[in-house]
Amino acid sequence: MSIEIERLNKKYGNFVAVDNISLALPDGKLTALLGPSGSGKTTLLRMIAGLEQPDSGSVAFNGADTTDVHVSNRGVGFVFQHYALFKHMTVFENVAYGLTVRPRRIRPSKTQIRQKVMQLLELVQLDWTAERFPSQLSGGQRQRIALARALAIEPRVLLLDEPFGALDAQVRAELRSWLRRLHDEIHMTTVFVTHDQEEALEVADQVVVMNQGRVEQVGSPEQVYDHPANPFVYQFLGNVNLFHARVSQGSASIGKLKLAAPEWQQVQDAQALAYVRPHEIEVLASAHSDALPAVLSYMTVVGHRIRLELKTANSTEFIKVELPKEQFRRLGLLQGDRAWLRPLHSKVFLEASTA
Ligand code: ATP
Repeated sequence: MSIEIERLNKKYGNFVAVDNISLALPDGKLTALLGPSGSGKTTLLRMIAGLEQPDSGSVAFNGADTTDVHVSNRGVGFVFQHYALFKHMTVFENVAYGLTVRPRRIRPSKTQIRQKVMQLLELVQLDWTAERFPSQLSGGQRQRIALARALAIEPRVLLLDEPFGALDAQVRAELRSWLRRLHDEIHMTTVFVTHDQEEALEVADQVVVMNQGRVEQVGSPEQVYDHPANPFVYQFLGNVNLFHARVSQGSASIGKLKLAAPEWQQVQDAQALAYVRPHEIEVLASAHSDALPAVLSYMTVVGHRIRLELKTANSTEFIKVELPKEQFRRLGLLQGDRAWLRPLHSKVFLEASTA
């Protein structure tokens, strides 16, 4: 089931929560709506679900407009951040719920319901919890049951709103790779709201980066991370260093260092900022004509990698560099030593477009 969103708008009073969004969510893919708090992700998800009415615009499922289709008839399955399992029901009863409340003429038989529920519990690898109550499960297990319950009604679309938001970091990381594997098995069109960049990049087929009710960029995780469309996406998707530069005819100068900026071939002498990720800077222990001189101020070991902070003459902030510990050892640098920095990959935005 594909989802087509056309010029969708939603205001709360004078506040614009969703601002003229058009978007295509492909059939069978997992799309992440990623953005900072308040960027309109949940409002957009709720309009897809039919829980919220847009002021204007439309949501279509497989090309058919859903404007007049009630939430209960849209065929959507939900999982929210706070496990909404029924406390007084066992796991089995929770997963069976959506089937047992169906009108008699379309309700499956008891045997069919049992079969279906046990299949789903196996799918989320929790068949051994069938007779337990939610209070006897961990947070991660409860979210997997919530997912099984959402899938029981055989939805056409699965909507997940920060489903792992309330869990600790390790459980979160485990559940997101689990969700990815599960999705590869069931291939259901899924929309997943998160403000966690790593989660979106790891889990999704397609990432929609949102900001202030608008879409900043849509693309595969690689596209949005490696080729951010604008400074907002660059900064939102990971750590980045900013270098003041002047751009002329496809080249950006940072002091004596020159970086290629082929997209600005037509520009004559403009102020710009060069964006460089911490792992895309080479550190040299001796002077080099095409490298920026710096002083090594701080070092922090994080597992097998090392984070450096260096001061250069033309940056007011520390330049952050990340590299494998072994590589750093070979440089033989100590705190306070001089070092030279060479950006290996950068993206240059003119100052006017970074405001
Ligand atoms: P978060 O990650 O914090 O959940 P979000 O990106 O999902 O944020 P939304 O929940 O869609 O953002 O909210 C977008 C904006 O709309 C927010 O500024 C929020 O305060 C506002 N908003 C959401 N629901 C309502 C409402 N029912 N009444 C008034 N304002 C609302």
